[in-house]
Amino acid sequence: MGRTLGGPAFRLVTAPPLARGGARIATKAARLWGRILGGDERTEGELHVITGLPKWAFGRGGTTVGATYLTHASDAPSVLEHEDVHRRQWERYGLWFIPMYFAAGQDAHTNRFEIEAGLEKGGYKPRRSLPPGGAASP
Ligand SMILES: [Zn+2]
Repeated sequence: MGRTLGGPAFRLVTAPPLARGGARIATKAARLWGRILGGDERTEGELHVITGLPKWAFGRGGTTVGATYLTHASDAPSVLEHEDVHRRQWERYGLWFIPMYFAAGQDAHTNRFEIEAGLEKGGYKPRRSLPPGGAASP
């Protein structure tokens, strides 16, 4: 690929109407998925939160797809704040958020979308900081 994300084609596919359309489709599909699996749905702000799902039905502690957050029971307020940032990322990029998220890497500590959403709120432990006294360099 060599092209940067920001060229005219990218701006077109992430143009707000298209991106929001993609996010809406993803939201509906995920809500349907959560309902089929018998989850309990509630709304927190603009986020549809579906709890009580089997653990194989989503990734990690929970997964936000469009404006729908799927989880078993990981729904503390700080987690929902984190997931609400993902909701806005979906709104910004639409379905392109899927390949962009995976391209940003499986390690949450270096994935820019997870960093933007907040690693601690998302339940990712912060990276070990430098030992007391700073780096070991002379
Ligand atoms: Zn996250």
